[in-house]
Amino acid sequence: MSDVETKPDEYACTASGAAGPEELLLTGRTVWLGKTTQVVRALPDRQIRMIGAWCFLDHFGPEDVADAPGMQVWAHPHTGLQTVTWLLEGEIDHADSVGSRVRVRPGELHLMTGGRGIVHSELSPADKPPTMHGLQLWLALPESARFAEPAFASHRSLPGLSGDGGSGTVLLGSVGTVRSPAHTYTPLLAVDLELQPGGELTLPLQPGYEHGAFVATGTVEIAGRPVDHDQLLYLGNGRDTVTLRSEVGGRVLLLGGEPFAEEIVMWWNFVGRSHDEVAGYRQEWLERADRFPAVVDRSERVMEAPDMPTVRLRPRPRRSPERKDA
Ligand code: MN
Repeated sequence: MSDVETKPDEYACTASGAAGPEELLLTGRTVWLGKTTQVVRALPDRQIRMIGAWCFLDHFGPEDVADAPGMQVWAHPHTGLQTVTWLLEGEIDHADSVGSRVRVRPGELHLMTGGRGIVHSELSPADKPPTMHGLQLWLALPESARFAEPAFASHRSLPGLSGDGGSGTVLLGSVGTVRSPAHTYTPLLAVDLELQPGGELTLPLQPGYEHGAFVATGTVEIAGRPVDHDQLLYLGNGRDTVTLRSEVGGRVLLLGGEPFAEEIVMWWNFVGRSHDEVAGYRQEWLERADRFPAVVDRSERVMEAPDMPTVRLRPRPRRSPERKDA
C-alpha cells in the first residue's frame, strides 16, 4: 500500500498520552489510492496518531472488481516501518526488492520489514476473484530496528480463538496463551475477530498496552460503545479485558501495543525522526539511489513522490486541545 494523496500531511507522532481506560470514537476518512481504489484511513487520526507502534490503518473494500482493474499500486518505497497486509476477500500479488513474489490470500499474514529501505508493488492479478476487501497497517520500527535489513515474511498458519459468540485469529502478539509465531520489534497485538449475529466475546488484554478496535464490517458494541463499520474505538490502556457483542454480526480488528516511546515523523511512505531525514528519503527515491533497489528493473512503473510540504514540520500534540477531557 502506498499513501498516494497528492498533498500528504506530514505527521509528528509523539509518545502516547495513554493514561488509563477510555472510549474515544474515531471515524476513518476516505482517501483515493491512485485512480482505481478508494480506502478508509483510520490511522493516523487527528486525535490519535498511534496505538502502540501501529501508525497507519487503511481499510479497502469490500469492492466489486470483476470489471475493474482492482489494486494498482505500482513500485514505491518504504523506510522505518513494517507493513502488515491482511485480506478478508480477494487476492493481491506482492512483489518487492528483496526478491519476494507472493500471491496474498485471505487468512494469511504478510509482514514486510522496510527497515533502511525497500520497494514493493501491490497489484490485483489478472485472474482476480470478483471481490477485494482487506486491511493494510503499518508499524513504526523502534530506533534499534529502523535501519534493519529489509525483509518479507509470510505466515499462512496462524493460531485461532473460538467462543460461543464468534471466533478470531491472532496475527501478532498473544491473547492469553494463544501466541502468533510472527516476530515483532515492540510488544504489540493484532487480532481479527468475527462476531456471529447475537454473539458476544470477552478477551483478556495486557493492561500495559493501549488498545483500539477497528470495525471492518457490521456494527459491534465494544466496551459498551456501539461502533459502526469504518470506525475505530480508542480504548486507552489499563484494561485487563474487553467485551464485544453484536446484534447483526461484524468483523473487528483489535490492535494494541506498549505506548511507542519515540517521536516519529511520517510523510508519504516514509517513517523517520525528522523532516530533513524524510526529505532525504524522498530525494533518494527521485534519484533511485541504492537505498531503493528495483522490484523488477529500472524501467518498471513506479509511483512518484509528491512534493514535500512547504511548511517545516513542528511537533504537534497528539490530541487536539478540546479533547483533553479523557
Ligand atoms: Mn506500500
